[in-house]
Amino acid sequence: MKCIVAGGGIGGMALGLSLHDAGLRDVEIYESAPAVKELGVGINILPHAVRELTELGLAEALGAAGIPTAELAYYSRHGQRIWAEPRGLAAGYRWPQFSIHRGQLLGILHRAVLARLGAGRVHTGHQLVHFGQEQGRVWAECAGYSRVEGDVLVGCDGIHSCVRRTFHPKEGPPKWNGITMWRAVTAGKPFLTGRTMIMAGHFGRRMVVYPISKAHEEKGLALINWVAELKNAPDQAMPVQNWEHTARVDEVVEPFASYVFDFLDVPAMIRGAGTIYQYPMVDRDPLPTWSFGRVTLLGDAAHPMFPVGSNGASQAIIDARVLARELALQPSIEAAIDAYDAARRPATAAIVLANRQAGPERCMDIVEERAPDGFSDLTAVVSQEELLEISSAYKRTAGFDPAILNARPSLSVR
Ligand SMILES: Cc1cc2nc3c(=O)[nH]c(=O)nc-3n(C[C@H](O)[C@H](O)[C@H](O)COP(=O)(O)OP(=O)(O)OC[C@H]3O[C@@H](n4cnc5c(N)ncnc54)[C@H](O)[C@@H]3O)c2cc1C
Repeated sequence: MKCIVAGGGIGGMALGLSLHDAGLRDVEIYESAPAVKELGVGINILPHAVRELTELGLAEALGAAGIPTAELAYYSRHGQRIWAEPRGLAAGYRWPQFSIHRGQLLGILHRAVLARLGAGRVHTGHQLVHFGQEQGRVWAECAGYSRVEGDVLVGCDGIHSCVRRTFHPKEGPPKWNGITMWRAVTAGKPFLTGRTMIMAGHFGRRMVVYPISKAHEEKGLALINWVAELKNAPDQAMPVQNWEHTARVDEVVEPFASYVFDFLDVPAMIRGAGTIYQYPMVDRDPLPTWSFGRVTLLGDAAHPMFPVGSNGASQAIIDARVLARELALQPSIEAAIDAYDAARRPATAAIVLANRQAGPERCMDIVEERAPDGFSDLTAVVSQEELLEISSAYKRTAGFDPAILNARPSLSVR
């Protein structure tokens, strides 16, 4: 079976590795960028996706690069702690959660693809522009190159997917919720446990902060990834949707000037950053199907979601594992794509919708609504039971409830 993969991001590379692991070795990955560059800032890989990467033999490489996140804590904009929970191994999962530089994660996946599938299987500078299927075969054309043929085509080509647009030409651009995100990394000192991820504020004026580098940790330092999110005025234009679009330090510091906490000085952290990237918070509505005969979608092409609950990359990795498994086990490619659609589309649609309601971060909005000036007794504002249910419900929706994940059988075909 020859598999054509359009897009060599985290989803496309994870698919290449998953297909190889499932015994499907005839895979060609076409990536539009001229080279696979280690771009971006921090990203979280949750235990359900770390499980898949572990089964693909990548646990050691992840552990050597990223931070095994041990705690997640939510704070009000006054720096008052609302909720904290252990994460990864500390929470009883059989697999860790990793906070890691997106570029390093992509590098780990890319090197494994080159080693296992072969260097000639990743075609950079190849932008998919047309494709089709006839007589049980698929064909794909990349700009400036002649047509290639295969048995199945998977669109792993991100939020502006050409494959998705071909099937849904009237869908239009992604939906913006009016929030601008600024992302950067700052070299600094460890805060709290040194492996804590914090969120402070509320939806629309929120800071997300976590360390991402094992190399820094070993020197007693922290490479701190942060995302500052701000709801724009209704008449303000959407920022450019380009991962390399940058912003000025002053415009980012100003809305967060009061976020000086005893454990972290947010304005100082922002001022200490290198390049600050600016991106709109966008998603798309869930689709009624991802099954188009021998063509399907994966990752952000299939289910772009707000970066709430740290799920985007993790869900792409799980998609890859499920699709590879179905392609290996089902009697036909069409049946495999239908089975993949049935398993993954409703599951990820639920996360897209949950993230529009702030997902697990809703606890911060509740405190902002009920106690905007701060609190002396948190239990008078929100009960521990309510907070626990918000956290647990999201884990069930996103597929990383610890008991369920620990007990479910492996997705490996072997
Ligand atoms: C440059 C970049 C930087 C990012 N930085 C961050 C970050 O800092 N933090 C974070 O949380 N998330 C970041 N993301 C998004 C995050 O990686 C994804 O949300 C998630 O990992 C899902 O991965 P994906 O492979 O489905 O999509 P993506 O990561 O978007 O990968 C899609 C890939 O397809 C390629 N592509 C697009 N169109 C075509 C085409 N027509 N033909 C062939 N190839 C095509 C793209 O160049 C890209 O490599 C970034 C994405 C990119 C592309």
